[in-house]
Amino acid sequence: MNKEEKKHYAKIAQLGCSLCRHLGYGTTECEIHHIRRFGGKRENAEVIGLCPEHHRGNTGVHGLGRKGFESRYGIDEQTLLNQTLSQL
Ligand SMILES: [Zn+2]
Ligand SMILES: [Zn+2]
Repeated sequence: MNKEEKKHYAKIAQLGCSLCRHLGYGTTECEIHHIRRFGGKRENAEVIGLCPEHHRGNTGVHGLGRKGFESRYGIDEQTLLNQTLSQL
């Protein structure tokens, strides 16, 4: 991870969990979640903040899977990413 990435990640982390924010829970402590695009390519800028539950928990993106997450919350990773980036 280079300096720019570190800075970027730190800013994303400061915003808190993007889903909690979307749900109106306010700013909660978060982890960095990498969004994979078609082809499975991992791009450094494609990250969002998710709290431990919404990240790795049963109601989180890894627990529910992408489709389950989307239908449960009515929002997808890409939209959360757009919202996150607009708040930087
Ligand atoms: Zn959350
Ligand atoms: Zn993740």
